[in-house]
Amino acid sequence: MHIHSKLPNVGTTIFTVMSALATEFKAVNLGQGFPDYPMNEELIALVNEAMKAGYNQYAPMPGWLPLREAIAEKIEFLYHIKINPDTEITITPGGTYAIYSAFTTILQPGDEVVVFEPAYDSYIPNIEINGAKAVPVNLVYPDYKIDWPAVRNAITEKTRAIMINSPHNPTGAVISEDDILQLRKIVSGTNIFIVSDEVYEHLIFDNIPHQSILRYSDLLERSFVCFSFGKVYNCTGWKLGYCVAPAILTKEFRKMHQFNCFSCHTPSQVALANFLKNKDTYLGLSSFMQEKRDCFIRLMQDTKFGMLESKGSYFICAKYDRISNEGDRDFAIRLTKEAGVATIPVSAFYHNGKDDRVLRFCFSKKKKTLEAAIEKLVSI
Ligand code: PMP
Ligand code: GLN
Repeated sequence: MHIHSKLPNVGTTIFTVMSALATEFKAVNLGQGFPDYPMNEELIALVNEAMKAGYNQYAPMPGWLPLREAIAEKIEFLYHIKINPDTEITITPGGTYAIYSAFTTILQPGDEVVVFEPAYDSYIPNIEINGAKAVPVNLVYPDYKIDWPAVRNAITEKTRAIMINSPHNPTGAVISEDDILQLRKIVSGTNIFIVSDEVYEHLIFDNIPHQSILRYSDLLERSFVCFSFGKVYNCTGWKLGYCVAPAILTKEFRKMHQFNCFSCHTPSQVALANFLKNKDTYLGLSSFMQEKRDCFIRLMQDTKFGMLESKGSYFICAKYDRISNEGDRDFAIRLTKEAGVATIPVSAFYHNGKDDRVLRFCFSKKKKTLEAAIEKLVSI
């Protein structure tokens, strides 16, 4: 049989590759982004209760209504905007799926999408599988700020969307109010959509406010804003998230969703609807994660790595020019095999493999895990 690949240039994701290598070489895994500490017991109990109470059949296609209502309440509390839970929120099997469905909803063959690089690895394949073209614009190393004149140059009459991600994976950069103003100037009066990946909305440090697209009604009217419960509640394996978009966009989005996944895991939705009502379950997250970031930075001072800044997410990047001049992929592989610490080479987030000799570390780990990694890294 011959298959005409829709993604001829795509291999296995770098997260899978580095996690497999970590397992093979029994390395401390600071590569793939997932916590290695337990999730909230109360939330587990709520899922259990929901199952025992019989919530085990299909949820409604757009998602369990009380969960959508709880999300709308949370959005109003955080971002001061009223979102209609009935027509503007769809529960999805994870943030990645929400982003994919948003692109599938709006893209036609030949359309262009501006994507900032380094970019989370699913964006460009998601665009290409829809027959559209990604137009990469580099964030400016080492702060990974958006180069707005470059964005303006990248816009053509074919531009259908701009992809935003803040807090940013892999760099931990966050967008500012000025970025929002620049974005507004570019899209105003155009037919350009915004797909905003905000899965790290609560993981933002040093009291910086999260510049959610949800705060800006003129931007929201053209946006699909994507979230992940996996990231918020340390349950990446649940693969549950949601997409917020105006009713007219949500209507089209659901046409994709109903024939792709139809509806998501019911007991988790029932549990989250109750859990979300307690604001503390999300308001405490940034200080919890900031402590982990600060602890990791402190520990890394004993090594030869040069830390870059992380203002959000659960990632931080580091230069290794005082250790080696190898390419980042080779160095990351050697570090896993020889030093016993797995990381992610940042060049994997560029379509052309641009290599600034920087590695991404995930610090969403137990203190013991971070210490075990440093113990190995101090000697190289
Ligand atoms: N976007 C970014 C930037 C991410 O880091 C992740 C993490 N895995 C996702 C989307 C996907 O979220 P989910 O696991 O809910 O699909
Ligand atoms: N988002 C996670 C990361 O950036 C990994 C998710 C995945 O493995 N696809 O590490």
